[in-house]
Amino acid sequence: MREKTAKILILLIGLAAAAALICIGFLSGAISLPVFSCSDAPSETEPDLPLVPKMPIKGQLSVYFIDVGQGDAAVLISPSGKTMLIDSGESIYANRVQKFLQTLGVERIDLLVGTHSHSDHIGSMPRIIKGFETGGYITTAEDIESDYSSAVETALNEKGVPIRKVWCGDIVEWDEECGITVISPILGCEYSQYDANDGCLMLRIEYGETAFIFTADATVHAEQLSMFHNEKELFKANVLKVAHHGSTTSSSIGFLETVDADIAVISVGASNPYGHPDFDILSRLNSAGCSVVRTDERGTVAAFSDGKSVTIEYQKPER
Ligand SMILES: [Zn+2]
Repeated sequence: MREKTAKILILLIGLAAAAALICIGFLSGAISLPVFSCSDAPSETEPDLPLVPKMPIKGQLSVYFIDVGQGDAAVLISPSGKTMLIDSGESIYANRVQKFLQTLGVERIDLLVGTHSHSDHIGSMPRIIKGFETGGYITTAEDIESDYSSAVETALNEKGVPIRKVWCGDIVEWDEECGITVISPILGCEYSQYDANDGCLMLRIEYGETAFIFTADATVHAEQLSMFHNEKELFKANVLKVAHHGSTTSSSIGFLETVDADIAVISVGASNPYGHPDFDILSRLNSAGCSVVRTDERGTVAAFSDGKSVTIEYQKPER
C-alpha cells in the first residue's frame, strides 16, 4: 500500500515538472502553437484545388460559374477581354472569388452585377469592390434593400463607382460583340415586396449565335411575367444558369421549355440545408433535354463560346 502511494506521488511530481517545463517553454517563446486568425484559418475561404478549369480563350466568350458553395458567382471574359462579375457569393467566399479573378489575370471589373440583395449573391461584394477597379455596377430596379445591399452601395460610393438600377428593356453596354438584355424585372409589373428573389435581375448574354441566361433566384412568378412581356425567341439559350440553386420556387416547365437550353448549370452547395437542387427540378431539366452540371459535384464550371457553339470544362472532371 505504502509502495503504491509512493508511485502515485512520483507520478504526480513528474506531471507537475512536465507542466512547469511546458509553461516555461511557452513563456520563453521556445514552444509556440500555430496561431489562426479568422482570415488565415483553414476554412472554406481557401480553395482546395486549383479553381480555374481552363484559362480564358482569346476571341471567345469565357464564362466561369465559380464554386461558392450555396450561392452564385459568375465571371465573364468577352472575346476582346472585357470583364464582368455577376454576383460574388457569401462573404466567406470573398478570398476565393478574389483569387479566382487574379488567377484569370483580371485587374479591373468592367461591369459588376448584383442581381438582388441576398447575402449568397452579394455578401462578398464590398470586399471585391475594395479589391478591384470597377467600371460600373448594375442591379435590379425592383430591389428590396438589405444590410448587404447597403454595404455594397457604401463600398461603391466610397470608390466613386457609378450605380445603375435597370429594368427589362434598358440597354446595358459591355462589349460590342456581346449583347446584354435585361429580361426581368418588368417596369409596371407587381413584384413581391417581401421576397427579393421575385424582383431579381435576369440577364441574357449573347455572343454570335450562342446565348447564356442568368436567372439569379428568379421565381416562377417572375419567369411568367417576363415570358408574357417578351418575345419567346429572347429566352432561347445554349446555357441556363438554373434559378435559385435548383429550388422548386423557380424553373417552371414552361420556362425551361422556352429556354430550351443544352446545358443547365446549378450553382449549389454540397449537403445544403435546403435540399437544393430539388429532385423535381432535376427531372424537369432532364425532360427538357438539358445536361445538368452542378458546382457541388464538379466545382467551378467553365463554358466557352466561339459564337457558334459552347463547350464545357469542369474543375473536377468526370471519372
Ligand atoms: Zn440565392
